[in-house]
Amino acid sequence: MTHTPVLKHHNNLEPYPFRENRRVTSDVRPRVIWLTGLSAAGKSTIVDSLNPVLRARGLTTCILDGDTVRTGLCRDLGFSADDREENVRRVAEVAALMVESGLTVMVALISPTRSARHLARSIVGSARFVEVFVDVPLAVAEARDPKGLYRRARAGGIPAFTGVAAAYERPLFPELHIRTDEVDVRRAVRMIDDWLLARG
Ligand code: ADP
Repeated sequence: MTHTPVLKHHNNLEPYPFRENRRVTSDVRPRVIWLTGLSAAGKSTIVDSLNPVLRARGLTTCILDGDTVRTGLCRDLGFSADDREENVRRVAEVAALMVESGLTVMVALISPTRSARHLARSIVGSARFVEVFVDVPLAVAEARDPKGLYRRARAGGIPAFTGVAAAYERPLFPELHIRTDEVDVRRAVRMIDDWLLARG
C-alpha cells in the first residue's frame, strides 16, 4: 500500500491551475489587422471573437466594420469604383490615426480591389499592416447569406454587389490566409493571435 500525503503536499506547491493560460502581455505592438473578403466570408464574426482575446492580452482595441462606417463616416459614398476606393481610404486614414495613438485596430471591410488595399497599406505603413484574407468560395458565402444580401443582389436589388456584379480581387501576398469553409471561428482567431504573438 502506498502513502500519498507527500504527493498531496507537493501538489499544493504546484503552480496555479491556470498556468496553461497564455500570459497577459503588452509585447504585442499596435497594428492594423485588415480583414478583407467577400460579404459573408466571416470578417465581422472573426473580429468579434478576436476582440476579447486581444483585450485579455492587455491591448486596447477598436473595430472598424464596413457596415458601421457606411452609416456614418462614409455615408455619403456609394458603390462606384471611385466611392469604394474612397471608402477604403477613409477607413485606412482613421485606422492610421488610431494605431499611431496606440490602439490595436481591427478592420472588417470587403475592400475588393488590390489597388485600394495597397493604398490602405501605404497609409497605415507596411510594418504595422496585417492583411488577413478571409477566404470562402462564393457558393458558400451565398449559401450563408446571413443578411440576405446575395439574394437581393441576384434579384437585381443591389447594383455592383461584390462577387455577383463586381469583381473581388483576391490578395496575392496577404500576411494571413484563412479559409472559413475549412476552419471554424475559434481556429481563425487563433491563427491571427498566433501571428501577432510570433511577430511581437
Ligand atoms: P462578413 O463580415 O465577412 O460579411 P459575417 O461575419 O457578417 O461576414 O457573416 C459570416 C457568417 O458565416 C456568419 O453567419 C457566421 O456565423 C458564419 N460562419 C460559418 N463559419 C464561419 C467561420 N469559420 N468563420 C466565420 N464565420 C463563419
